[in-house]
Amino acid sequence: MTAATAFRFGGRLALDLTWTLRYRRVEPTELLERPGDLRRWIGVAVAPTRAPVDDDLLAAAIDLREAVYRAATATIDGDPVRRADRALINAWAERPGPHRRLDASGGAEVRLRTGDEIGSALAAVATDAIDLLATGRDRLRRCAGPDCALLFHDASRPGRRRWCSAERCGNRVNTMAYRRRHAPTTGPE
Ligand SMILES: [Zn+2]
Repeated sequence: MTAATAFRFGGRLALDLTWTLRYRRVEPTELLERPGDLRRWIGVAVAPTRAPVDDDLLAAAIDLREAVYRAATATIDGDPVRRADRALINAWAERPGPHRRLDASGGAEVRLRTGDEIGSALAAVATDAIDLLATGRDRLRRCAGPDCALLFHDASRPGRRRWCSAERCGNRVNTMAYRRRHAPTTGPE
């Protein structure tokens, strides 16, 4: 894995999972290629785990991811969420999610469910998706960057955020606009 295709996180678990298929519009790039990739993503996004992940669990996580992506894009477009996607998200949300523990220094630590660590992480993803789709729907956005298909939740107070990340897509667009404005005129006379 190269730095260019490393995991990225925007702060909303359900949408972060959808970010593991990069460049959806131009050149879909799967970041969850192997079971170990899912374990690594969960380790950063939810809590560290050494639980086994097999191909079936990886496929199930990808199914959940795509259901969340379709549900979120439908919601942004004002369309109903497909029944099958709703059923899949609801089924994962029914499972026991992670829990929190107070640690010795007074901090809280997220722990995955013993015996179903990966499943509990996916339950957390599904629960966050439900929260986003039901109560965060007005702040769900599609990045305005050209070729960028990333979805994000606009938690800014004015609610006018346009980019998945200002550094990435915001800057790219500003640079392109700058170049257009200052391009030398080389066309035929
Ligand atoms: Zn973007």
